[in-house]
Amino acid sequence: MSQRKKIIAANWKMYKDLAESNDFFTFFIENLQDTKAEILIAPSFTNLWHAFDATREYPIEIVAQNMHESEEGAFTGEVSAKMLKSIGIERVILGHSERREYFAETDRILSEKVRTALANEIKIIFCIGEKLEDRKDGDHFKLVESQLRNGLFHLNAKQWESVVIAYEPVWAIGTGETASPEQAQEMHQFIRKTIADKYSNEVSDNVSILYGGSVKPANAKDLFAQPDIDGALVGGASLEVESFIDIISAL
Ligand code: PEP
Repeated sequence: MSQRKKIIAANWKMYKDLAESNDFFTFFIENLQDTKAEILIAPSFTNLWHAFDATREYPIEIVAQNMHESEEGAFTGEVSAKMLKSIGIERVILGHSERREYFAETDRILSEKVRTALANEIKIIFCIGEKLEDRKDGDHFKLVESQLRNGLFHLNAKQWESVVIAYEPVWAIGTGETASPEQAQEMHQFIRKTIADKYSNEVSDNVSILYGGSVKPANAKDLFAQPDIDGALVGGASLEVESFIDIISAL
């Protein structure tokens, strides 16, 4: 029997200042219904501590959007795993396509970030996903497999307990275009099989695989009905507190 968790995660990207973040949490905490989902929210670095403090008595986990691969050092503007850990953060998003694209995060850097996070007992949400041209060329499975292999296959089976995967086709992020439930399911099943082939059915059955890419209240239910979709990583629609609550209710 699979142990995998249902998760709805919010990625706020570079949105919401402190006052906006406060307003969100005040409403969210008052209006959240019972849910079988684990709720994760990733605000900006400047809001992390406050968000952590405001939600510590509620079933809401505050997550970082990024961290540096080194333990410490002369890296102006960067934040380390140890710094996150010191304010209570226990999970980080790594490999988001915006980080890969705009901040030149390669598979090699990402595999180092993964290593450093886990060495500091920080769990990861690892994002993978193809661009539109990869899909048009029929290379989407190959590309996703290489991101998995290069980013995560240095881990041992036990370390996979600290990993959540987010499949986020780049062509669906922030574009309003969602992968159909069938397209998403097909890729999630492929990801699970790739993990099973490298490790075991046990490892792959227990890893939560989230879908990300223009998830909204209107399409969430159909996506969540797919057997290999264990929840969502939500960008734009997570900024609107009511939309985010509706997406959680769809699970
Ligand atoms: C994301 O940034 O991870 C994301 C999925 O964004 P959006 O929901 O806006 O497509």
